[in-house]
Amino acid sequence: MTGRGTNTYVLGHGEGVVVIDPGPADRVHLDQVELLARGRGTAALVLLTHHHPDHAEGARDLADRLGAPIAAIAHEHAPRLDRVLVETTFELPGLSLRVLPTPGHTRDHACFVWEQESAVFAGDLVAGEGFIVIDPPEGDMTDYLASLARVRDLPAGDARGPRLLLPGHGPAIEDPSGYLAGYIAHRLQREEKVRAAMPIDGWRSLEQLLPLAYDDTPEVMYPVAARSLEAHAIKLVREGRAETSGGLYRRLASRRIG
Ligand SMILES: [Zn+2]
Repeated sequence: MTGRGTNTYVLGHGEGVVVIDPGPADRVHLDQVELLARGRGTAALVLLTHHHPDHAEGARDLADRLGAPIAAIAHEHAPRLDRVLVETTFELPGLSLRVLPTPGHTRDHACFVWEQESAVFAGDLVAGEGFIVIDPPEGDMTDYLASLARVRDLPAGDARGPRLLLPGHGPAIEDPSGYLAGYIAHRLQREEKVRAAMPIDGWRSLEQLLPLAYDDTPEVMYPVAARSLEAHAIKLVREGRAETSGGLYRRLASRRIG
């Protein structure tokens, strides 16, 4: 599920070198990251966008090699953290990095906003290719959509929204507002398909809903789609647009407001 691998970012210089998402515990990869970081100066921070092993497994080894603290939002499956992140801004030489909690993919997910460049290190909020898996109960579709909107709406000088997204997987995204709008529209369209697949006068299981709500998706992707389907179903129930009983779901008529 990592595409061509995980992107590790090394930025800053002098006393303020930062490594974002060291990646898996792959010796050759960590050697290269260490070399890159040392070439720029002294490592001040190893940052994690979230605890998933493809981003964080190599963090402890790299942090020890570089003598730099690991900082991330707390999570029971995170590597041992030297600093627990909250919403804050790191001021390093020539570099301001703002921590932006963006839960949804995981509870501990954060993006890092490089203020001078209006660039966002996006972790698994978005991928440069394809879509992100939302896997409940860790994954939460309500939070995820709010996090997408939060990054879309970041102030950036006179404009709104960042100039560049640097994801954990796939290439950089140079049209963040269009890309994020597309991501949000994709999820909301899927949510409507999930809701439409739920009967009003009967019940369907998630297994029954899957081929109806994902009729445009190859069957080989069904195990992954099933996780996002459940995330959508949980959100619909939470919003009073569907109800569930004994693992079965049904649609509730739209509530009129006002
Ligand atoms: Zn992940």
